[in-house]
Amino acid sequence: MEHPVRIAVVGAGIAGLTTAWLLEPSHDVTLYEAAERLGGHADTVTVPTGHGEVRVDLGAQYVYPAGFPVHGRLLAALGVGPADLAEAPVTFTMSSSGRKNVPLIVSPHAPDELRGSRTPVTGPAWDSLGTFLAAAADFAAVDGDWTVSLAELLDPLALPEDHVRQIIHPLMAYISSCADAQAPELSVRAATAFFLALAPRAPGHAPIWANATCGMGGTASLIAGELRGTEIRTGSGVTAVRRLGDGYEITDTVGDARMVDRVVLALPAYAASPLLEPLAGRDGVRRAMDAFPYTPVSVAVHRDAAYMPVDRAHWSTVNLDTHDGHTEASNWYGPVLGPPGRQVFKSWTTHRGRPKDTIAVRDFRHLVLTTDAVRARGVLDSRQGEDGLYFAGSHLTYIDSQEGAVRSAVTVAKHFGCDSPRLAALSAPVADLAAAPAGTL
Ligand SMILES: Cc1cc2nc3c(=O)[nH]c(=O)nc-3n(C[C@H](O)[C@H](O)[C@H](O)COP(=O)(O)OP(=O)(O)OC[C@H]3O[C@@H](n4cnc5c(N)ncnc54)[C@H](O)[C@@H]3O)c2cc1C
Repeated sequence: MEHPVRIAVVGAGIAGLTTAWLLEPSHDVTLYEAAERLGGHADTVTVPTGHGEVRVDLGAQYVYPAGFPVHGRLLAALGVGPADLAEAPVTFTMSSSGRKNVPLIVSPHAPDELRGSRTPVTGPAWDSLGTFLAAAADFAAVDGDWTVSLAELLDPLALPEDHVRQIIHPLMAYISSCADAQAPELSVRAATAFFLALAPRAPGHAPIWANATCGMGGTASLIAGELRGTEIRTGSGVTAVRRLGDGYEITDTVGDARMVDRVVLALPAYAASPLLEPLAGRDGVRRAMDAFPYTPVSVAVHRDAAYMPVDRAHWSTVNLDTHDGHTEASNWYGPVLGPPGRQVFKSWTTHRGRPKDTIAVRDFRHLVLTTDAVRARGVLDSRQGEDGLYFAGSHLTYIDSQEGAVRSAVTVAKHFGCDSPRLAALSAPVADLAAAPAGTL
């Protein structure tokens, strides 16, 4: 080929943006995005408060610099340093709407914002959760198989049935936004990875994660701002990918048809599968994509404390309530953002009414990382690059996270044999980094 390789990257979430960022130095890249906005699940709203404006994420919010090593390297390459990350202490309260005022658990550590004014609720349920997480940590330490289900690890522990039903299933289901009844089918490695990374700085302290002060949408804008060699087509959803000669014809909602040499589908599986319909010999790939379960999720950023525990002494940064077979969170920003965040909340409202004083709402589809989904990603991994067709996205690597999205982009760029300083900056061996979760780079 005499011209630089022409690549269509379809989808401009963090995975697609990072893929374009890695490929553009040596390829001719067109980035297609169906929405008018870049970032996908990285979606930030600016909230005016009596103490100035703050940025709050509707979708992906938490990062964990030590546990998200490849994403951390991307942030560093974009000039986002520790000073741009607000520490987010993760405390949690678990309640059941049926038992209104009595939380089942209030985690026994306090962020500074609440020190002295918080009443932990622990006891045997907390101990059962500890037993389960210790077993999950042992399993992760021996690099246990990601296709082992939550039920397979949990059942032999023979924990009290009400602790499993009221605490462990709801907590694990919350991470995937799935029904509590689906929790037993989750990959136990995927379901527990966030929790296992939550090591507190000192006993009695809340584990610290982080929120980018520019928001995840801000980091998406930073990547886009560096895409000087990529043609970015927003409001341009791809409707079909057809094989023509040695390349592909890409058709989009604007009505354009364009020839490229290679295609990277940086899309959730439910959006990628229909695009492959015109391609012969792709049935196995489509079957694998269709095996990824997703669930609809509505999220609201608001000023109403309606979904917080009744007693202020039970408030945490993450407040979970189980109702109608679902467990939904209300995140409180006071301990993260200080005074400007005291009256700002982010609540999952898929299965309950919308709170008052709403600032913004969004609908997403959340990946449910079941053992079937883990198997399906193995299939896609084995077909990566076949006939010039590649797959990226947070569903393909590690857990559904910013880290997974960036790792998937690195995987694709390596397939292309890229040799750029950007790829070198992201792709030092993960094993070099302390606390790095077992991954598949
Ligand atoms: C509510 C919620 C909270 C989350 N919280 C966290 C968190 O705290 N921390 C964390 O690390 N992760 C979190 N996640 C996980 C999140 O999914 C990943 O971190 C990551 O942002 C996904 O990036 P992606 O690029 O793979 O996919 P997406 O962000 O879904 O991007 C896919 C893009 O493809 C576009 N698209 C779809 N169809 C087409 C088409 N036909 N043509 C062109 N474009 C198309 C979409 O518009 C979208 O922009 C959360 C997810 C949700 C839903």
